Amino acid sequence: MDLPPELPAVALVDLDAVARNVGAVRRRVGPAAVMAVVKADAYGHGLVPVARAALAGGATWLGVAHVHEALALRRAGIGADVLAWILTPGTDLVPAVRAGVDLSVAAAWSLEAVVAAAREAGRRARVHLEVDTGMSRGGASPAEWPALLDAVADHVAAGDVEVRGTWAHFASADVPADPSVTAQLAAFEAALASAREHGVDPGLRHHANSAAAFFVPQARYDLVRAGLAVYGLSPAPDLATGAELGLVPAMTLAARLAHVRRVPAGAGVSYGLTYTTATDTTLALVPLGYGDGVPRHASWDGRRSGEVLVGGARHRIAGRVCMDQVVLDLGDATAAPGDAALVFGPGADGEATADDWAQVAGTISWEVVTRVGARVPRRHT
Ligand code: PLP
Repeated sequence: MDLPPELPAVALVDLDAVARNVGAVRRRVGPAAVMAVVKADAYGHGLVPVARAALAGGATWLGVAHVHEALALRRAGIGADVLAWILTPGTDLVPAVRAGVDLSVAAAWSLEAVVAAAREAGRRARVHLEVDTGMSRGGASPAEWPALLDAVADHVAAGDVEVRGTWAHFASADVPADPSVTAQLAAFEAALASAREHGVDPGLRHHANSAAAFFVPQARYDLVRAGLAVYGLSPAPDLATGAELGLVPAMTLAARLAHVRRVPAGAGVSYGLTYTTATDTTLALVPLGYGDGVPRHASWDGRRSGEVLVGGARHRIAGRVCMDQVVLDLGDATAAPGDAALVFGPGADGEATADDWAQVAGTISWEVVTRVGARVPRRHT
């Protein structure tokens, strides 16, 4: 692993892995197409380079939450189909319509906002209709759906909008046998039938996230919206590891040791002195903390903590994760300032993975990679 010598810490992002992961998803879901979900700075991996790599790997759509994320893609010269799915009142949608960004519509107000923008832009807005099939997050409820469809049909006829897709999102696709999965699919089928009855062609049908793309074949429809899998992580490690799904983690979070010293047995370490050295030992400082996304919940809890690879072996965090640093207990291992410390990566050299960190911190791998802070430079290879 090549750690740039001038940086205290870095997130190395393997764009070839991103492209290959998209290929693995495509092979699995074909003939359905793949939308690479690149919201939140591509889950912390870097919006524009990841979007390009995903398209090179065979994605034909990009998905983001916010309109400004879609416009950032356009500013970077990316002309591929892109869908933005969270609209809020007050956002100027005219630039998005002009830029040919697809916008999700889930309510009368958002339809009206999109129509107004289309009229001002002088071109049809491209919309995807979101229906709530049971997650109770976004989307028109079954009660709201028929009226929304009538309004959409009118605006299609008036030339204001073009319906390019109809979509929903799973609550529990990582548990494919959960009854909610079948119930959501049935609700989606009903919503699609209702659209046709109201004279609205649903366009591309999409319901699947990464977990459904792999584990719920009947949810693939025309397009799957894959996020986590693009980054090489399994959406359901209990069902299949990333490697079993043909995925390679794209991000390695690494740093250089800043300080190394011997301390006697009985030394308290870090805030609150929650960790006491059991023997004489070597402590090493890693210049990454919760300000960089290292979960504070991965602090030593009396039993375990996050582990960082130094000199070929994993060493636990001694005490609490601080904002800018963590202390490792190296025991009698030798190390020097400047030595490489791998926080997480693909695991090929024995380093912990994002899944390992998620487990120790009581969270999910999505959060582990996405929260790697803006202070950590990304290096794309
Ligand atoms: N679709 C929507 C609407 C999402 O919000 C997300 C991410 O949370 C995804 C797709 C991708 O999900 P995943 O990362 O589990 O593939």
